[in-house]
Amino acid sequence: MPPAPPLIDRHTHLEGSLDPHWVRWEAERRCLALPASLETLWSGTAVPFEGFIEAFLFGAALLDSRESVREAALAVARRTRLAGGTGFDLWVSPHFLVVHRGQITLDAFWRGLEEGLAEAASWGLRSCVVVDAVNHFGPKHGQAVLDLVLPALPPFVKGFSTGGLEGSPFRAWAPVFDRARSAGMHIAAHAGENGPGSNVREAVLEGGVARIVHGIRADTATFELLAELRIPVDICPSSNRVLAADVAPHPLPLMLSAGVRCALGTDDPGLIPCDLVTEAAAAQAMGLDEAALATLGRNGVEDAWCMDSGVEAAGSSR
Ligand SMILES: [Zn+2]
Repeated sequence: MPPAPPLIDRHTHLEGSLDPHWVRWEAERRCLALPASLETLWSGTAVPFEGFIEAFLFGAALLDSRESVREAALAVARRTRLAGGTGFDLWVSPHFLVVHRGQITLDAFWRGLEEGLAEAASWGLRSCVVVDAVNHFGPKHGQAVLDLVLPALPPFVKGFSTGGLEGSPFRAWAPVFDRARSAGMHIAAHAGENGPGSNVREAVLEGGVARIVHGIRADTATFELLAELRIPVDICPSSNRVLAADVAPHPLPLMLSAGVRCALGTDDPGLIPCDLVTEAAAAQAMGLDEAALATLGRNGVEDAWCMDSGVEAAGSSR
């Protein structure tokens, strides 16, 4: 019997969650050829990491207006709702779109998000936003991200995170994390995904990170540390299968038995097709029993940032 999917999508990226039909339609409207890597990913086939980045950037380039950002937020909301979910923690990259690409103003970006999330709330979905900085661009870039967003941080932004390649040491990010924390943001980091497992320990102990995304390359001692410190870890089986295929078997069962507060997320479901239903099934296929699956679901709600102070549900149609 398929397991009940978790209620909260604990980790999904705005730019990686676009509706494939919308992307196809937009590409056609703009006379753009879809990259082959995107079609390959959509067919469920893995591509090299560069191909994934190419596909991710193609979608991100379409987010150049308030309307398109609103549509992107709604794609997340629709996917969550269709899978039976009730909320999501949404990672977004405003600095990349506003400054690096210069394709949208910060105001239009926030307004598009606000409109999409408000509509999601009217369907009964809770949500919050986590601002993502690019790890391999270094801590100076992290400060620039904060320079951009802190002067007028919308109330739905609850966290700050690093993503991308784990190219610069987390101890060097500590001042950036401190500044974001002082501004009232929760701190997360993609760690132990494309970098060594030791990054997870460093992110927590030297970076002061309060939540880990992936963490799958960490060793047993680090899992025990995460459990002891009650650090939540977002696990995205479909994404890991494509982007961290060499990590096998997946350590989720080991993490849960060590007491790590793991929960499920979809990461980039617009590129690597998945939703909360497929992720729960993938977790079950790793050999998790009913109790372990229930723990995943419970952690997903208890540690979700959208649950403590996200955009409040304005009503429920469920
Ligand atoms: Zn991610």
